[in-house]
Amino acid sequence: RRGWIEVICGSMFSGKTEELIRRLNRAKIAKQRVEIFKPAIDTRYHEENVVSHNANAIRSTPIQFASDMLLLASGCDVVGIDEAQFFDEGLVDVCMTLANNGSRVIVAGLDLDYQAKPFGSMPALMAVAEYVTKVHAVCMNCGDIASYSFRKAASAQKVLLGETDTYEARCRHCFLEGMKEK
Ligand code: ADP
Ligand code: MG
Repeated sequence: RRGWIEVICGSMFSGKTEELIRRLNRAKIAKQRVEIFKPAIDTRYHEENVVSHNANAIRSTPIQFASDMLLLASGCDVVGIDEAQFFDEGLVDVCMTLANNGSRVIVAGLDLDYQAKPFGSMPALMAVAEYVTKVHAVCMNCGDIASYSFRKAASAQKVLLGETDTYEARCRHCFLEGMKEK
């Protein structure tokens, strides 16, 4: 059995979780052994489920450290990871080890934070992945393709869990305009 790494990245509301769930459901249909993990800090909708903004959901295991997956996911055909940007730096090595040991690893996460800076382990994961898919949202300001997560609230915390009340997807132009107004 041969493993590899797939990355699904993009802004908030771009359909990363939707696409992750789609791929994992297809693997389940193929009767493969599938495990899904998310960082324990992401409890926005549900303690255990991975849930997309259009309410698709799949059972998952919340974990604190990326290395928890080495035991919990050993021997899986497919390992899904959501909100990967929130994991510790050990995530890259963990994904490499799982893929080296024969698992298909599918990682979804924000490529950029609210200041449009590469987020956590995502850039490194994109570099080592065999496949990288960038999905796009719709700009809430003008309707163009959006790649940025604009924070409407004033907080300067890097990790601020939130929803449409706190963040909105924006295109490059409208993101820059919004940053100027701050
Ligand atoms: P992500 O995991 O990337 O945050 P989700 O998969 O959870 O995205 O949600 C994608 C869904 O969000 C879309 O199918 C759509 O129903 C909804 N949605 C809400 N706002 C937007 C937007 N600005 N652009 C695109 N989809 C949006
Ligand atoms: Mg998501």
